[in-house]
Amino acid sequence: MCATCGCGAEEVQVSLLADSHPLDHDQQHRLDHEHHSHEGQPEHDGRLEHDHHHGPGHDRTHTITLEQAVLAKNDQLADHNRIWLARRGLTAINLMSSPGAGKTTLLERTIIDSGLTLSVIEGDQETSVDAERIRAAGARSVQVNTGAGCHLDAAMVRRALDQLAPQTGVVAIENVGNLVCPALFDLGEARKVVIISVTEGDDKPLKYPHMFSAADLIVINKTDLLPYVDFDVDRLTRDARKLQPGVEVLGLSARSGDNLDRWFGWLKALSTG
Ligand code: MG
Ligand code: ZN
Repeated sequence: MCATCGCGAEEVQVSLLADSHPLDHDQQHRLDHEHHSHEGQPEHDGRLEHDHHHGPGHDRTHTITLEQAVLAKNDQLADHNRIWLARRGLTAINLMSSPGAGKTTLLERTIIDSGLTLSVIEGDQETSVDAERIRAAGARSVQVNTGAGCHLDAAMVRRALDQLAPQTGVVAIENVGNLVCPALFDLGEARKVVIISVTEGDDKPLKYPHMFSAADLIVINKTDLLPYVDFDVDRLTRDARKLQPGVEVLGLSARSGDNLDRWFGWLKALSTG
Protein backbone atom coordinates (compact mmCIF):
# COMPACT_ATOMS: atom_id res chain seq x y z
CA MET A 1 0.00 0.00 0.00
CA CYS A 2 1.15 3.52 -0.68
CA ALA A 3 2.54 4.62 2.68
CA THR A 4 1.09 8.11 2.48
CA CYS A 5 -2.20 7.93 0.71
CA GLY A 6 -3.72 4.50 1.12
CA CYS A 7 -3.99 3.77 -2.56
CA GLY A 8 -2.09 1.79 -5.11
CA ALA A 9 -1.07 -1.83 -5.32
CA GLU A 10 -3.99 -3.35 -3.43
CA GLU A 11 -6.38 -2.06 -6.02
CA VAL A 12 -4.62 -4.42 -8.42
CA GLN A 13 -4.91 -7.21 -5.89
CA VAL A 14 -8.60 -6.67 -5.41
CA SER A 15 -9.33 -6.72 -9.11
CA LEU A 16 -7.24 -9.84 -9.60
CA LEU A 17 -9.14 -11.55 -6.85
CA ALA A 18 -12.45 -10.25 -8.05
CA ASP A 19 -12.31 -12.36 -11.19
CA SER A 20 -11.35 -15.26 -8.97
CA HIS A 21 -8.38 -16.56 -10.92
CA PRO A 22 -5.89 -18.03 -8.49
CA LEU A 23 -2.59 -16.15 -8.53
CA ASP A 24 0.44 -18.03 -9.77
CA HIS A 25 3.69 -17.78 -7.87
CA ASP A 26 5.10 -14.91 -9.92
CA GLN A 27 1.95 -12.82 -9.59
CA GLN A 28 1.82 -13.50 -5.89
CA HIS A 29 5.41 -12.48 -5.41
CA ARG A 30 5.01 -9.33 -7.47
CA LEU A 31 1.92 -8.25 -5.54
CA ASP A 32 3.47 -9.06 -2.20
CA HIS A 33 6.43 -6.98 -3.17
CA GLU A 34 4.31 -4.05 -4.28
CA HIS A 35 2.71 -4.04 -0.89
CA HIS A 36 6.01 -3.60 0.88
CA SER A 37 8.02 -1.62 -1.61
CA HIS A 38 5.92 1.52 -1.35
CA GLU A 39 6.97 2.14 2.21
CA GLY A 40 9.01 5.31 2.27
CA GLN A 41 8.70 5.96 -1.45
CA PRO A 42 7.93 9.58 -2.24
CA GLU A 43 5.29 8.59 -4.77
CA HIS A 44 4.02 5.29 -6.09
CA ASP A 45 3.87 4.48 -9.75
CA GLY A 46 3.13 0.80 -9.50
CA ARG A 47 6.21 -0.13 -11.50
CA LEU A 48 8.90 -0.31 -8.85
CA GLU A 49 11.71 -2.72 -9.49
CA HIS A 50 12.68 -5.22 -6.84
CA ASP A 51 15.31 -7.81 -6.12
CA HIS A 52 14.61 -9.01 -2.61
CA HIS A 53 12.36 -11.66 -1.14
CA HIS A 54 9.84 -11.54 1.62
CA GLY A 55 9.74 -13.66 4.70
CA PRO A 56 6.90 -16.05 5.38
CA GLY A 57 4.95 -13.61 7.57
CA HIS A 58 3.28 -11.59 4.83
CA ASP A 59 -0.45 -12.06 4.52
CA ARG A 60 -2.12 -10.97 1.30
CA THR A 61 -5.59 -11.24 2.78
CA HIS A 62 -4.68 -8.65 5.35
CA THR A 63 -3.60 -6.08 2.74
CA ILE A 64 -6.81 -6.56 0.78
CA THR A 65 -8.91 -6.06 3.88
CA LEU A 66 -7.03 -2.89 4.66
CA GLU A 67 -7.56 -1.50 1.16
CA GLN A 68 -11.25 -2.33 1.19
CA ALA A 69 -11.58 -0.67 4.58
CA VAL A 70 -9.89 2.50 3.33
CA LEU A 71 -12.16 2.70 0.30
CA ALA A 72 -15.30 1.76 2.24
CA LYS A 73 -14.61 4.50 4.80
CA ASN A 74 -14.01 6.95 1.97
CA ASP A 75 -17.25 5.96 0.22
CA GLN A 76 -19.15 6.58 3.45
CA LEU A 77 -17.66 10.07 3.83
CA ALA A 78 -18.34 10.75 0.15
CA ASP A 79 -22.01 9.93 0.69
CA HIS A 80 -22.06 12.46 3.53
CA ASN A 81 -20.54 15.05 1.23
CA ARG A 82 -23.18 14.30 -1.41
CA ILE A 83 -25.95 14.84 1.14
CA TRP A 84 -24.29 18.03 2.42
CA LEU A 85 -24.11 19.37 -1.15
CA ALA A 86 -27.65 18.30 -2.09
CA ARG A 87 -29.12 20.03 0.97
CA ARG A 88 -27.63 23.28 -0.25
CA GLY A 89 -28.66 22.78 -3.87
CA LEU A 90 -25.03 22.55 -4.96
CA THR A 91 -23.63 20.44 -7.79
CA ALA A 92 -20.07 19.15 -7.50
CA ILE A 93 -17.80 17.94 -10.28
CA ASN A 94 -14.50 16.12 -9.84
CA LEU A 95 -11.93 17.15 -12.47
CA MET A 96 -9.17 14.64 -13.02
CA SER A 97 -6.23 14.58 -15.43
CA SER A 98 -2.46 14.36 -15.69
CA PRO A 99 -0.53 17.43 -14.52
CA GLY A 100 -0.62 20.09 -17.20
CA ALA A 101 -3.74 18.95 -19.09
CA GLY A 102 -5.35 22.33 -18.45
CA LYS A 103 -7.76 21.81 -15.55
CA THR A 104 -7.08 25.18 -13.96
CA THR A 105 -7.14 27.03 -17.28
CA LEU A 106 -10.49 25.47 -18.15
CA LEU A 107 -11.85 26.54 -14.76
CA GLU A 108 -10.56 30.09 -15.23
CA ARG A 109 -12.31 30.34 -18.59
CA THR A 110 -15.48 28.88 -17.10
CA ILE A 111 -15.47 31.38 -14.23
CA ILE A 112 -14.92 34.32 -16.57
CA ASP A 113 -17.10 33.37 -19.54
CA SER A 114 -19.83 30.87 -18.62
CA GLY A 115 -22.09 33.03 -16.49
CA LEU A 116 -22.21 30.21 -13.92
CA THR A 117 -21.33 30.68 -10.27
CA LEU A 118 -18.37 28.47 -9.49
CA SER A 119 -16.45 27.82 -6.32
CA VAL A 120 -13.34 25.70 -6.47
CA ILE A 121 -11.45 23.24 -4.32
CA GLU A 122 -7.90 23.02 -5.62
CA GLY A 123 -5.84 19.89 -4.95
CA ASP A 124 -2.08 19.91 -5.41
CA GLN A 125 0.80 18.36 -3.52
CA GLU A 126 2.25 21.79 -2.74
CA THR A 127 1.68 25.52 -3.32
CA SER A 128 -1.47 27.59 -3.54
CA VAL A 129 -0.67 28.82 -7.05
CA ASP A 130 -3.84 27.39 -8.59
CA ALA A 131 -6.16 28.64 -5.84
CA GLU A 132 -4.71 32.11 -6.39
CA ARG A 133 -5.35 31.84 -10.13
CA ILE A 134 -8.96 30.90 -9.43
CA ARG A 135 -9.41 33.84 -7.07
CA ALA A 136 -7.86 36.16 -9.63
CA ALA A 137 -10.45 34.90 -12.14
CA GLY A 138 -13.17 35.92 -9.68
CA ALA A 139 -14.28 32.81 -7.80
CA ARG A 140 -14.04 31.55 -4.24
CA SER A 141 -11.34 28.97 -3.82
CA VAL A 142 -9.69 26.77 -1.19
CA GLN A 143 -6.37 25.03 -1.70
CA VAL A 144 -5.76 21.53 -0.35
CA ASN A 145 -2.11 20.47 -0.23
CA THR A 146 -1.70 16.72 -0.05
CA GLY A 147 2.05 16.68 0.65
CA ALA A 148 3.29 13.28 -0.54
CA GLY A 149 -0.29 12.16 -1.24
CA CYS A 150 -1.33 11.78 -4.85
CA HIS A 151 -5.12 12.17 -4.77
CA LEU A 152 -7.91 13.93 -2.91
CA ASP A 153 -10.18 11.90 -0.66
CA ALA A 154 -13.64 12.57 0.71
CA ALA A 155 -12.35 13.69 4.13
CA MET A 156 -10.14 16.36 2.57
CA VAL A 157 -13.05 17.58 0.48
CA ARG A 158 -15.26 17.65 3.58
CA ARG A 159 -12.84 20.00 5.36
CA ALA A 160 -12.42 22.11 2.24
CA LEU A 161 -16.20 22.48 1.84
CA ASP A 162 -16.47 23.80 5.40
CA GLN A 163 -13.85 26.40 4.65
CA LEU A 164 -15.18 27.26 1.20
CA ALA A 165 -18.78 27.59 2.42
CA PRO A 166 -20.24 27.67 -1.11
CA GLN A 167 -23.69 29.26 -1.34
CA THR A 168 -24.86 28.42 -4.82
CA GLY A 169 -23.91 26.99 -8.19
CA VAL A 170 -21.21 24.51 -9.10
CA VAL A 171 -18.45 23.31 -6.81
CA ALA A 172 -15.52 22.27 -8.98
CA ILE A 173 -13.01 19.97 -7.31
CA GLU A 174 -9.69 20.01 -9.16
CA ASN A 175 -7.99 16.77 -8.18
CA VAL A 176 -4.25 16.25 -7.89
CA GLY A 177 -2.77 15.76 -11.38
CA ASN A 178 -2.60 11.98 -11.68
CA LEU A 179 -4.37 9.50 -13.96
CA VAL A 180 -4.17 6.62 -11.49
CA CYS A 181 -5.59 6.61 -7.97
CA PRO A 182 -7.96 9.62 -8.07
CA ALA A 183 -10.26 7.29 -10.03
CA LEU A 184 -10.72 5.13 -6.92
CA PHE A 185 -11.83 7.84 -4.51
CA ASP A 186 -15.41 9.05 -4.57
CA LEU A 187 -15.49 12.62 -3.26
CA GLY A 188 -19.27 13.05 -3.21
CA GLU A 189 -19.33 14.66 -6.66
CA ALA A 190 -22.26 14.45 -9.06
CA ARG A 191 -20.00 13.82 -12.07
CA LYS A 192 -16.42 12.84 -12.79
CA VAL A 193 -14.78 14.73 -15.65
CA VAL A 194 -11.54 13.38 -17.11
CA ILE A 195 -9.46 15.85 -19.08
CA ILE A 196 -6.84 14.69 -21.56
CA SER A 197 -4.83 17.16 -23.64
CA VAL A 198 -3.75 16.40 -27.19
CA THR A 199 -0.08 16.79 -26.25
CA GLU A 200 -0.32 13.72 -23.99
CA GLY A 201 -1.09 11.23 -26.77
CA ASP A 202 -4.21 9.33 -27.72
CA ASP A 203 -3.20 6.03 -26.09
CA LYS A 204 -4.22 6.90 -22.54
CA PRO A 205 -7.67 5.23 -22.19
CA LEU A 206 -6.30 1.72 -22.58
CA LYS A 207 -3.24 2.50 -20.41
CA TYR A 208 -5.32 4.04 -17.61
CA PRO A 209 -8.60 2.13 -17.88
CA HIS A 210 -9.76 2.79 -14.31
CA MET A 211 -9.70 6.52 -14.87
CA PHE A 212 -11.41 6.44 -18.26
CA SER A 213 -13.98 3.88 -17.10
CA ALA A 214 -14.94 6.17 -14.22
CA ALA A 215 -15.49 9.25 -16.42
CA ASP A 216 -18.95 10.71 -16.94
CA LEU A 217 -17.45 13.11 -19.47
CA ILE A 218 -14.09 13.05 -21.25
CA VAL A 219 -12.80 16.46 -22.28
CA ILE A 220 -10.06 16.59 -24.91
CA ASN A 221 -8.30 19.89 -24.30
CA LYS A 222 -5.84 21.92 -26.41
CA THR A 223 -7.56 21.05 -29.70
CA ASP A 224 -5.94 24.21 -31.12
CA LEU A 225 -2.69 22.20 -31.13
CA LEU A 226 -4.09 19.26 -33.14
CA PRO A 227 -2.34 20.35 -36.38
CA TYR A 228 1.03 20.06 -34.62
CA VAL A 229 0.74 16.73 -32.80
CA ASP A 230 -0.05 13.11 -33.62
CA PHE A 231 -3.29 12.77 -31.75
CA ASP A 232 -6.18 10.85 -33.23
CA VAL A 233 -9.42 12.04 -31.66
CA ASP A 234 -11.34 9.13 -33.21
CA ARG A 235 -8.91 6.58 -31.79
CA LEU A 236 -9.19 8.03 -28.29
CA THR A 237 -12.97 8.12 -28.56
CA ARG A 238 -13.10 4.54 -29.83
CA ASP A 239 -10.82 3.27 -27.05
CA ALA A 240 -12.71 5.15 -24.36
CA ARG A 241 -15.97 3.66 -25.62
CA LYS A 242 -14.51 0.17 -25.53
CA LEU A 243 -14.23 0.73 -21.80
CA GLN A 244 -17.49 2.58 -21.49
CA PRO A 245 -19.90 2.40 -24.42
CA GLY A 246 -21.50 5.74 -25.20
CA VAL A 247 -19.34 7.86 -22.90
CA GLU A 248 -19.51 11.52 -23.92
CA VAL A 249 -16.30 12.94 -25.41
CA LEU A 250 -15.95 16.68 -25.90
CA GLY A 251 -13.03 18.32 -27.72
CA LEU A 252 -12.29 21.94 -26.87
CA SER A 253 -9.57 24.47 -26.36
CA ALA A 254 -9.58 26.43 -23.13
CA ARG A 255 -6.90 28.65 -24.67
CA SER A 256 -8.52 29.52 -28.00
CA GLY A 257 -12.10 29.21 -26.70
CA ASP A 258 -13.00 26.64 -29.35
CA ASN A 259 -16.10 24.65 -28.36
CA LEU A 260 -16.23 26.10 -24.83
CA ASP A 261 -19.93 26.77 -25.33
CA ARG A 262 -20.59 23.04 -25.34
CA TRP A 263 -18.71 22.65 -22.05
CA PHE A 264 -20.66 25.52 -20.52
CA GLY A 265 -23.88 23.93 -21.80
CA TRP A 266 -22.99 20.58 -20.22
CA LEU A 267 -22.32 22.29 -16.89
CA LYS A 268 -25.51 24.35 -17.03
CA ALA A 269 -27.62 21.29 -17.79
CA LEU A 270 -26.02 19.54 -14.86
CA SER A 271 -26.52 22.35 -12.38
CA THR A 272 -30.14 23.03 -13.33
CA GLY A 273 -31.18 19.43 -13.92
MG1 MG B 1 -4.10 22.93 -11.74
ZN1 ZN C 1 -3.12 8.39 -4.44
